[in-house]
Amino acid sequence: MSDIERTLSIIKPDAVERNLFEKISDILKKNNLKIEKNKKLQISKEEAAEFYKEHQSKPFYERLCNYLSSGPIVVMELSGENAISKYRDIMGATDPKKAENNTIRQLYGISIDKNSVHGSDSKSSAKRELEFFFNN
Ligand code: UDP
Ligand code: MG
Repeated sequence: MSDIERTLSIIKPDAVERNLFEKISDILKKNNLKIEKNKKLQISKEEAAEFYKEHQSKPFYERLCNYLSSGPIVVMELSGENAISKYRDIMGATDPKKAENNTIRQLYGISIDKNSVHGSDSKSSAKRELEFFFNN
C-alpha cells in the first residue's frame, strides 16, 4: 500500500564539515525522496538535549548532545512513498561498521558517534521532529 509520508533528516556536523550535502541529496533523489525544505543551522546543547530526550537515560546522551551542537547541521523535510522507513533503510545501521553496503552511513559514517545522518524512526517521531525544526 502506498503511503506518502514526511520525515526529518539531519546531516550531522561531521558530514556538513566534509561538504557531503550534494552527495547525500543525490542518494535521496535516486531513491525518490524529495527535499521539501532544508536549512543549515547550529543548535545549542540545550536544544540538542530536548531533541534527543528519548535517550536521556543512555550512557552516550551527554556526548551525543555535545556532538550534535558542536557545529552546523543541515535539517531537511523529506517526502515520498513510505519515506520514514525508506530513509531509515537508505541511512543504514546506527553503527557504520554494521551498515549495509551503499547506505549513507556505510559510505560516509566515521563511527557510531559520528554517523553522519539522523532520520525519524516512526510517524510520531517524524511529526515531533518536523515540528521541532520547521514548526509545521
Ligand atoms: N549513539 C551513540 N552510541 C550508541 C548508540 C547511539 O553515540 O551506542 C548515537 C548515534 O549518533 C545515534 C544517536 O545516538 O545516531 C541516536 O541513537 P539511536 O539509537 O536513536 O540511533 P539512530 O536512530 O540514529 O540509528
Ligand atoms: Mg533514533
